[in-house]
Amino acid sequence: MRLTDRHRGPDFCPDCGEKIKWVRLISDMWIAVNEEPVLFIPGEGRRWLVEYLNWDAVILKDCLIYEPFKGMNRTKVKKGYMPHVWTCGK
Ligand SMILES: [Zn+2]
Repeated sequence: MRLTDRHRGPDFCPDCGEKIKWVRLISDMWIAVNEEPVLFIPGEGRRWLVEYLNWDAVILKDCLIYEPFKGMNRTKVKKGYMPHVWTCGK
């Protein structure tokens, strides 16, 4: 599975069989993400996540996944989607 695709794909990952969600990007491409949102802090990391939207979303390239009980700044925490390709079990 590629990171983005021109067309919306199947509801289940063809590689690992997990249920996936498709988000329409502002670039007119589609991206498969995990259904369960993740918490992150924007601008403080290097991970690529997807904006918490169903369409007109952008890929956020500087995210830090929020981990509780580690003294991270909770006031900046936002919700987003994890691209499925990076957690795909295959
Ligand atoms: Zn998969």
